[in-house]
Amino acid sequence: MAEILGADSVTIVDVAGNLAAIKQEISETARAAGRASDDVALLAVSKIHGSDRIRAALAAGHRLFGENRVQEAQDKWPELKAAFPDVTLHLIGHLQTNKAEDAVLLFDVIETVDRPKLARALAKAMTKCGRRPDLLIQVNTGEEPQKGGIAPSETDAFVAFCRDELALPVKGLMCLPPLDEEPAPHFALLRKIADRNGLSVVSMGMSADYPIAIEFGATVVRVGTAVFGARPK
Ligand SMILES: *Cc1c(COP(=O)(O)O)cnc(C)c1O
Repeated sequence: MAEILGADSVTIVDVAGNLAAIKQEISETARAAGRASDDVALLAVSKIHGSDRIRAALAAGHRLFGENRVQEAQDKWPELKAAFPDVTLHLIGHLQTNKAEDAVLLFDVIETVDRPKLARALAKAMTKCGRRPDLLIQVNTGEEPQKGGIAPSETDAFVAFCRDELALPVKGLMCLPPLDEEPAPHFALLRKIADRNGLSVVSMGMSADYPIAIEFGATVVRVGTAVFGARPK
């Protein structure tokens, strides 16, 4: 990651250079895994960062972004989306039921559908707003009690409920493996559950492990720090 320490001690991050390097690594890793080089999308995770770094990514031609909080995204993105209408914005953080409508209005993909109550709220919000963002189901592959996501053993039934009963536009799965474990088995499990449910989108892998996620079949990698630098505290 290219970082230059300026004279005033403000870290200047080469966002365009980082994006180019990561995209290069993504296509090389995909090809090495026997996949097409454009098979994997880079979701630039801009949470916490201000519009200056996001604008640097936009100026470099990048259009796919992720945010983890509805409120923060509402503060940052309406203006940027108006200026760059071809942006695609993903929600990658926990979604409260009472924010479902706000999320449906702002985001193009919601990656964190993980419980029946939220699925129902999203169905209702989509009907009311006349907007249908694509949905991913978050799977808690490590079955961590503090983490969002549906248990692996309940995922097939939950996918069926969302797709068949609520007619929601479910396109794939996402996961966030436990921090203290090898991610590979989690990535393999997510890909397996996606395949047996006929879901084509698999969102997994972050700055530290996105090449491994690609080897195991990721179609979206969510990369923050390696693109934008360390997040402000
Ligand atoms: C912050 C975040 C990322 C990106 O993490 P980095 O380690 O900065 O790349 C990916 N996915 C989710 C769900 C996140 O909250």
